[in-house]
Amino acid sequence: MNHFTKVGRVPGDPILGLMDAYRADPNPAKIDLGVGVYKDARGLTPIPYAVKLAEQHLVDSETTKTYIGGHGDAAFGQLMLNLVLGAGNPLITAGRTGATQTPGGTGALRLAAEFIAANMPGRGVWLSDPTWPIHETIFAGAGIKVAHYPYVDAANRLDVEAMLAALERVPTGDVVLLHACCHNPTGFDLGQDDWQRVLDVVRARELLPLIDFAYQGFGDGLEQDAWSVRLFAEALPELLITSSCSKNFGLYRERTGALIVCAADADKLTDVRSQLAFLARNLWSTPPAHGAAVVATILGDAALKAQWVEELNAMRQRVASLRSGLVEALQPFGLAERFAHIGVQRGMFSYTGLSPEQVARLRAEFSVYMVSTGRANVAGLDASRIGDLAAAIAKVC
Ligand code: PMP
Repeated sequence: MNHFTKVGRVPGDPILGLMDAYRADPNPAKIDLGVGVYKDARGLTPIPYAVKLAEQHLVDSETTKTYIGGHGDAAFGQLMLNLVLGAGNPLITAGRTGATQTPGGTGALRLAAEFIAANMPGRGVWLSDPTWPIHETIFAGAGIKVAHYPYVDAANRLDVEAMLAALERVPTGDVVLLHACCHNPTGFDLGQDDWQRVLDVVRARELLPLIDFAYQGFGDGLEQDAWSVRLFAEALPELLITSSCSKNFGLYRERTGALIVCAADADKLTDVRSQLAFLARNLWSTPPAHGAAVVATILGDAALKAQWVEELNAMRQRVASLRSGLVEALQPFGLAERFAHIGVQRGMFSYTGLSPEQVARLRAEFSVYMVSTGRANVAGLDASRIGDLAAAIAKVC
C-alpha cells in the first residue's frame, strides 16, 4: 500500500514564484518589486555593519552551544522589551510584561495563535482585509476562526470609518490583529487619532489586541513606529505583541523575533509565560540562538547600537526617497496626483492601485515584477531606474 496516494499538491507561494520568474527573465532592464526584502542601491540585501561587528565578537566570546531556555536569551528578551515598549516603561518595572524569543516574527505569530487556541478556545481572530497572507494560514492552521475587517476602500484609500464600523460588531473577547506600522501589503498606516479611536472600540468591546510589529524603524523611526504599541500597552491591561528582527536588523534567515505579552499583573504574566514555554516546547523546543545573541550584543552596547540605528535610518531614508522620487517621476505623465498615496504610505510596501491587468502588462512588456494585487516592494527599487518604472507605469495607465 502506498500511504501518500491521497496527498495532493498545494500551489507554491505566489510571491516566491514571482521571484523565480524574475530570476529566469533574460531582460537586463528587468525590475523586481516582488518579494518583501530591503535592497540597497546595488540591489543587495545587506548585512548591517553593526551585525557583522556583533557576529565577530560572538565568534570570539561564545563558549557553548548548549540549549538556551524555552523563553530564549534572557538578555535579548529584556532588551527587546526596552526597544518595543521603551526603556523605563512602567510595565517593565512592574513585571507585567515579558518577551519570549521566537523563530522570527512568524514564530511569534504561530506561538500567539497556539496560545489563543489552547487558552481562549472559541475566540475568533480578526484580520485587516487585506493582510499579510501568512496571517490567514497561521491562525486557520491553529484551528482558529478567522474573520476580516475592511482596511482599504475600492478606490485604494485607507478606510478608517469602515474599519471602525466593523470592529464595533466584533464579538466581545475576540482577538483583533493590528499592524503597528508599515502595513503589509498596503503601506497605509493609521494616524494617531485613528489609533486612539481603534483603542476606544477595542476597550469598549473588550477585544484582545495582537499587534504585529514586523517593521520597527522602517516607518517614521524606531520610537515613532512604537507609538501605537506603547499607547495600547499603557491603556489596556492585556496585550500581545509579535516583534520581528528580520527587516530592521537585516537578520532574515537567522529567524529572530519575540512574542511580547503584557498582563494585568506579574502573577498572571507568570501563568501566561508558563503556557508559552509549554507550547514553544512542542513547536520548536528552544529557539535558534545566533540572531538573538547578535541583537542582544548590539542593543547592549552603546556604540554598536548607535551604529545600527544609523544604518537603520539610512534604510528608512532610502525607502522614503524612492517613494517621493517615484511620485515625482510620474509628474511629467500627469500621474503624480493619482499616485500621491505612494508618498504617503510607509514601509517597504505600496498598494499602488494598479489592476491585475496592468500588473500583467508591466511584466509582459517591461519586465517589471510585482504581486498581481498591485503590491509593489518599493524597497526593491534601484534609484537609477525610477524614471524607467514611471514611464512603464504611464504606458499601462
Ligand atoms: N508580519 C508581517 C506583517 C510581515 O510582513 C512579516 C515578514 N514578511 C512577518 C510578520 C514575519 O517576519 P519574519 O518571520 O521573517 O520575522
